[in-house]
Amino acid sequence: MTYKITLIPGDGIGPEISQATKRCVDATGVKIDWEIVDAGVDVMEKEGTPLPQKVIDSIRKNKIALKGPITTPIGKGFRSVNVALRKELDLYACVRPCKSYKGVRSKYENIDLVIVRENTEDLYAGVEFEEGKEETQKLIAEIEKASGKKVRKDSGISIKPISVSGTKRIVEYAFDYAVKNKRRKVTAVTKANIMKYTDGLFLAVGKQVAKKYEGKIEYQEVLVDNMCMQLVQKPELYDVLVLPNLYGDILSDLCAGLVGGLGVAPGANIGDGCALFEPTHGSAPKYKGQNKVNPVAQMLSAVLMLRYLGEEKAADKLENAISAVISEGKDVTYDMKPDRNDPTAVGTSQMADAIIRKM
Ligand code: NAD
Repeated sequence: MTYKITLIPGDGIGPEISQATKRCVDATGVKIDWEIVDAGVDVMEKEGTPLPQKVIDSIRKNKIALKGPITTPIGKGFRSVNVALRKELDLYACVRPCKSYKGVRSKYENIDLVIVRENTEDLYAGVEFEEGKEETQKLIAEIEKASGKKVRKDSGISIKPISVSGTKRIVEYAFDYAVKNKRRKVTAVTKANIMKYTDGLFLAVGKQVAKKYEGKIEYQEVLVDNMCMQLVQKPELYDVLVLPNLYGDILSDLCAGLVGGLGVAPGANIGDGCALFEPTHGSAPKYKGQNKVNPVAQMLSAVLMLRYLGEEKAADKLENAISAVISEGKDVTYDMKPDRNDPTAVGTSQMADAIIRKM
């Protein structure tokens, strides 16, 4: 069987790591007809939008995509293409496994955590009001009238919507993932003591959902500030974490740090019948075109993709080959060497060659 899969190389370092990953996936023997479509800053200049409709149409048609990172300029230009894709395709679950690999330098060993981040709501909903604008002034007046609380007139405002339906499906996803992957515990992470009607709602719904899995999967609730400390001090206490969007984003990077950094942190964005796989890291524009950065996070995202397709053997083959190259520590990129200036570090595509040789 041949799979038709959308490949979005992205911008910055995206095209290099995507090309390296495509070669490794093809070397597993799984037959893939890649449909390559471009999005990101380079496309913006040519097509007037960083996210042409044909990109969305391709993913809708093929139902599965592998994507490189895409730049979001801060405070100007366009909104995030990454957030837009997740919203447009309703990819509501962001799954980020954080697992220790032998040979990756890290302060911790034997980490095996999975972040399940809600992907469509919360402060990421993009409902924002700029300081000084007329509609912002009107909104501030309305808020003061409705809540009886003062908001400074020179405020900008970001809205944090969290719904019952949005929470139910993400917590159910986390529990179903735990059952399917033989995990022991789901921990819901919020700041429900302060944001009672948003994070509080997330917890109330979480508790309800957890009841259905009683006796099968343990359920626990931890406040996000405490969770940051706990993860640094006792990560082994945790297993699957389920979080609203913003905390999920922040803790994904924290957990990536526990296993050796963004260079080895993969991700999956899953909706009903549609999935997009991409690394946790961004487009690292300063390294663009240098054949220098680590392709492993993108490759491990492809491993998740192969597992999603049910191609377990190919997924194991690729993951074991990546693991072998990392643990040898010879044909790895600069960031995986004990000294970042080590002249024996190889480039992105040479690391891919070494991984292919191990398959
Ligand atoms: P970044 O992840 O691009 O870089 C953070 C640090 O990690 C940098 O020092 C970088 O050099 C290093 N790094 C990242 N990937 C690496 C790799 N594969 N190998 C070795 N080192 C690596 O984060 P940033 O600098 O905050 O963001 C750059 C751009 O990427 C921004 O425009 C941001 O919006 C975007 N971004 C996109 C995504 C996505 O496409 N899903 C995710 C995060 C950030």
